[in-house]
Amino acid sequence: MRRALPGPIVALGMGITFMTGCQGPTSRVVGMSVEGRPIECRTLGYGGRTVLFMATIHGDESVGTPLLRDLEAHLQAHPRLLTGRTIVFLPVANPDGFAHNTRENAHGVDLNRNFPADNFDASKNHGVAPLSEPESRAIMAVLEEHAPDAIITIHQPYGVLDYDGPGEPLASAMAAQCDLPVKRVGSRPGSLGSYAGLTLGIPIITVEYREDASDLTEQQLWEKYGASLVAAAIYPEMLD
Ligand SMILES: [Zn+2]
Repeated sequence: MRRALPGPIVALGMGITFMTGCQGPTSRVVGMSVEGRPIECRTLGYGGRTVLFMATIHGDESVGTPLLRDLEAHLQAHPRLLTGRTIVFLPVANPDGFAHNTRENAHGVDLNRNFPADNFDASKNHGVAPLSEPESRAIMAVLEEHAPDAIITIHQPYGVLDYDGPGEPLASAMAAQCDLPVKRVGSRPGSLGSYAGLTLGIPIITVEYREDASDLTEQQLWEKYGASLVAAAIYPEMLD
């Protein structure tokens, strides 16, 4: 189940950067999907603590995409929140899966099993090797370029805030602003959580909204979950 979203992502061409104003955002295409769809990375703010938000690495778990659009708009409307920090967005990490409403990419690979974590487990569904897929390589390039201090990746349907690595305090700060409990689900082989959290030691929160989040309007989603995303963006600062 997924909600229809207005408008396609505009293809900018590889490596082209443009600014839309003094507060950003910067938008850049960081890779192309198997079927040639652009993978867009957007950045707000400059310097300081860097937080990466990503959505829809599983193409059929897409409520994070409109939420990140709203988070970006909120931060732009409240530029004080951007002082001393950089917020990086990957709004659609798996554009082919998003287009076809499938979990995997167009090769049938689960991108969230395709990272070079110590627990990578090669298979047809996980990929023959870590980073065998162009989408996971694009995400990796973003990790290497921005070296985030924390990562928030949005999924469905388990209704929890899962974390890997030293992510529990950040997960708790998010849980204080929404109705999802902090709960460890367990580290999956080759997942971004395993790689970033366990291999690299970066706090990473795997947000699992409930399945019925897909039934909410974008405005309802933002009212329900916006504050927890803002809390993650400004952590360790607290919301007023
Ligand atoms: Zn998922």
